[in-house]
Amino acid sequence: MPEETFKAILVSRDEDKKQSVTITELTEADLMDGDVTVAIDATTVNYKDGLAITGRAPVVRRFPLIPGVDFAGTVTASSHPEWKPGDHVVLNGWGVGETHHGAYAGKARVKGGWLVPLPQDLSARDAMAVGTAGYTAMLAVMALERHGITPERGPVVVTGAAGGVGSVAVSLLSKLGYHVIASTGRHAEHDYLRGLGAHEIIARDELSGPAKPLAKERWAGGIDAVGSHTLANVLSMTSYGGAVAACGLAQGMDLPASVAPFILRGVSLLGIDSVMAPKELRLEAWRRIGSDLDHAKLTALSTTMPFEGIINAAHDIVEGKVRGRLVVEM
Ligand code: NDP
Repeated sequence: MPEETFKAILVSRDEDKKQSVTITELTEADLMDGDVTVAIDATTVNYKDGLAITGRAPVVRRFPLIPGVDFAGTVTASSHPEWKPGDHVVLNGWGVGETHHGAYAGKARVKGGWLVPLPQDLSARDAMAVGTAGYTAMLAVMALERHGITPERGPVVVTGAAGGVGSVAVSLLSKLGYHVIASTGRHAEHDYLRGLGAHEIIARDELSGPAKPLAKERWAGGIDAVGSHTLANVLSMTSYGGAVAACGLAQGMDLPASVAPFILRGVSLLGIDSVMAPKELRLEAWRRIGSDLDHAKLTALSTTMPFEGIINAAHDIVEGKVRGRLVVEM
């Protein structure tokens, strides 16, 4: 009997290292080694997937490769002690979609240690409406909390607010009682951001130019998805003893800042990495997403799209045109 095929996106490179992307049919025999096989129920398009598919940054480091850094799915085969067929699982990161075949396929074969259980109150679609962007936003909120940035300490700013990380961060922070200041470059998304719980909205260009070493104190903390001058400005405007969680580079990977906020105001810069985050932190983040993210807001911030739209969406997201989160149901 011929092996069952499933659709997949494949990123390839020719001899001149020119990258191409195709939709093709594969079989389980084409997947990489791993002890758990998963039928993908839903996936999503994150900024990093956009970089991978467009080739704008060297996210894909092995060719040909199925991109896609996260999925929610159902285990179909397992030799890993933790998982059995029928289990519902979520995967974020661990090099999936970078060096290991990823989520943009009917099936994936991965290491059991990379998986976490799908939280009880979430569907596969919900989990991907959150996706790596939303789970990163949760990691950032948890980092601020660990640093003692409670709602009583003052407002918290979110940059790149209408994007994926930003939309989930705004929703989470407002549900937790913070006064949220959302920074966006998109005037048309002000009502959307207020709907997610933003109390104040500021224009992206207030923060995107070169930063002074110190500026007027405006917030107790921040979640920054943008990097570069924006992060430098956020730091320079953070009040005494505050903290900023840095997780993104939509403006740039540089950080043209001074040490003044650190040495004169005791401000802390908290680094957020979702890809290699240890399992305990992941489990805690997904548990908190289940309890602290408003379901109605999750619906408001996510759009469902077909598998065939992934390649176009990848281009849109790196151009800053995607609002909130995109979900692909298989
Ligand atoms: P999105 O594209 O959905 O969001 C990014 C947002 O940044 C845009 O919507 C836009 O928001 C803003 N933006 C875009 N370009 C610029 C620019 N040139 N200057 C200033 N602001 C800009 O991406 P995601 O939310 O998926 O990811 C956000 C960032 O977080 C990315 O850099 C991504 O790589 C990173 N990330 C990091 C992770 C980690 O583990 N550390 C995990 C997940 C994501 P607006 O229109 O509102 O201004």
